[in-house]
Amino acid sequence: MEHTITFRDGLQVCALGQGTWNMGKSPSRRAEEIEALRTGIELGMTVIDTAEMYGNEELVGEAVHDCRDKVFLVSKVLPSNASYRGTKEACERSLFKLSTDRIDLYLLHWKGTHPFSETVRAMLELQREGKILCWGVSNIDVPDMERICALPGGETCAANQVLYNLKERGVEYDLIPWSLERGMPVMAYSPVGEGTLAGDGLLAEIAREHEVMPVQIALAWAMRHPGVMAIPKAGSTAHVRDNFRSLSIELTEDDCRRLDAAFPAPVHKIPLAGW
Ligand code: NAP
Repeated sequence: MEHTITFRDGLQVCALGQGTWNMGKSPSRRAEEIEALRTGIELGMTVIDTAEMYGNEELVGEAVHDCRDKVFLVSKVLPSNASYRGTKEACERSLFKLSTDRIDLYLLHWKGTHPFSETVRAMLELQREGKILCWGVSNIDVPDMERICALPGGETCAANQVLYNLKERGVEYDLIPWSLERGMPVMAYSPVGEGTLAGDGLLAEIAREHEVMPVQIALAWAMRHPGVMAIPKAGSTAHVRDNFRSLSIELTEDDCRRLDAAFPAPVHKIPLAGW
C-alpha cells in the first residue's frame, strides 16, 4: 500500500483517513455523508474517526456495515466517562451504536479528572476481551504522555490524535518527534484548518503549480512526515475524491520553504491549545 502508516504491532493503514465531526447533524445530509464515507473507503481511505461525543456513531456504523472488514474504526471515550468502569461501559455503548463487535482504535478523547491509570487499565482489559484492537489517546501533550507510558501496559499506547495543520504547528516542536521516536503514529486532526486553508493565497499559488487544489496541498503537507496521518472530514463524495488525490502529491523543497516562511515552524514549546 502506498503512503501508509505502520502501528507498533505492524498493522498498516492508509495515511489519509476520514474524520466525521459534524456529520449526522442534519437528517437531510445523512445519505450524502454516508455515501462520502463509503466512497473514501472504496478509494482506500479506510481509517474512519468518530467519538461518542460526536453523536454520530450510528451513522458511521451504517456507512461501514457492508465493508466492516476493510475499515479501521476509531472511536473515543469522553474524559467524563473515563474511569475504569465508565470506559468499559462507554465502549459497550459505542460498539452497540456502531453495530460492530470491535473498535480498532479506542482513544481517550482528552485529559479529564479520572486518573490515567484507570483509563489505561480499562483499555487493556477491553483489548484482552477483543472489544478493541488497540488503544490510544488524543490531545495529550508530552509530559502526560510520559506519565501514561510509565503506567503498567501504558507503553502499548498505539497513537495520539492531535490538532495539526499549517496554522497549528506547535506539535512539531516536541510531540511529533517524541511520538515517532517511540513508533507511535500521530493522527493530525483538522488538517485543513476546519476548511479555512481552502482559501489561502499561498496554498492556491502552490496548488496551481502542481495543478491541484489548495486543500490537497495542505493535506500533502500534513502527511509529509512518515508516521503522521491526516483525517480530514469531507461531507461530499466530491471533496472525498479531491482529498484522496493529496496522496499522490510530492511537495518540493521549494514548496516547503515557502510554506515555512508563511506558516513558521515552532521555535519553542507551545502547549497543546485548549486542553
Ligand atoms: P478539517 O478536516 O480540517 O476540515 C473540515 C472542513 O473542511 C469541512 O467544512 C469540509 O467541508 C472542508 N473540506 C474537506 N475537504 C474539502 C475539500 N476537498 N475542499 C474544500 N473543503 C473541504 O476539520 P475537522 O473536521 O475539525 O477535523 C477532521 C476530523 O478530525 C474531525 O472530523 C474529527 O473526526 C477529528 N477531530 C478530532 C478532534 C479531537 O479532539 N480528537 C478534534 C477535532 C476534530 P465539507 O464537509 O463540505 O466537505
